[in-house]
Amino acid sequence: MHNAAYAALSLDWRYVRLPLAPDRFDEAVRALPGSRYRGVNVTVPHKLAALALADEATPAAAAIGAANTLTFAGGRIEADNTDAGGFLDALETPPRGLRALVLGAGGAGRAVAWALREAGAAEVSVWNRTSERAAALASDLGVRHVPAPEAADLLVNATTIGLETGLSDSAAIEALGIGSLEAPATVVDLVYRDPSTPVAAWAKRRGARVVDGLEVLVRQGARSLERWTGRKPPLEVMRVAVRDAGAA
Ligand code: NAP
Repeated sequence: MHNAAYAALSLDWRYVRLPLAPDRFDEAVRALPGSRYRGVNVTVPHKLAALALADEATPAAAAIGAANTLTFAGGRIEADNTDAGGFLDALETPPRGLRALVLGAGGAGRAVAWALREAGAAEVSVWNRTSERAAALASDLGVRHVPAPEAADLLVNATTIGLETGLSDSAAIEALGIGSLEAPATVVDLVYRDPSTPVAAWAKRRGARVVDGLEVLVRQGARSLERWTGRKPPLEVMRVAVRDAGAA
């Protein structure tokens, strides 16, 4: 996705994968600017460490407590969390005034709950299998936590349900406790899997508008790319690259 975008922008840049052990994370990341890296995307389990080592953080990264994007600029390291903004970009229509329900209280659940609150959702509720985590998230970010999924205008699956191929669609919907919910107008499934996921299939059957995890992936990547390069991301090129990779 990133390399396809650089090619489309005629940039002589490369996006490479760097597997790092947690105990080498700090040292390795601090060495990257000296090797002409402009930034990094950071994924599990390094998102907290990424925020901790940065010299400055955007309001999103600071409030969510995790960073997925580091930018090396003038000897300083800037942290951002583009999962939040990328999620809002993928929605296309701002969630202002909507009742939103977030399933999951891990890193993605935190980013989405914060984004929804910031973007003016009328109500942000969080449900999680382990209810203590939902309660902690709700208290940190000033949203509600609910003991069971409730009807909403916008439902977001921010759990890992749907990632594993062994679980049947009906078992996945049962694990999330949404089987008998009235269909929300819009459903976002952060999980991406080809060709679809149990939550996306459930939402389509109920007539909801579905925003899939690949679109969110593209949008969070586009925000990172714009931070590093200062260029407008070629979204359609990135979408095609990501969908081709998924199909392959
Ligand atoms: P995480 O921090 O590991 O959190 C996992 C979440 O899934 C927790 O809330 C966990 O609940 C829940 N969960 C796991 N197994 C479950 C089950 N059997 N039944 C019900 N809930 C279950 O992961 P994350 O970083 O937040 O990521 C969550 C998902 O979002 C992943 O699939 C990831 O790939 C996706 N994601 C996508 C994008 C994108 O760009 N599309 C961006 C970020 C994340 P407990 O607390 O009870 O364990």
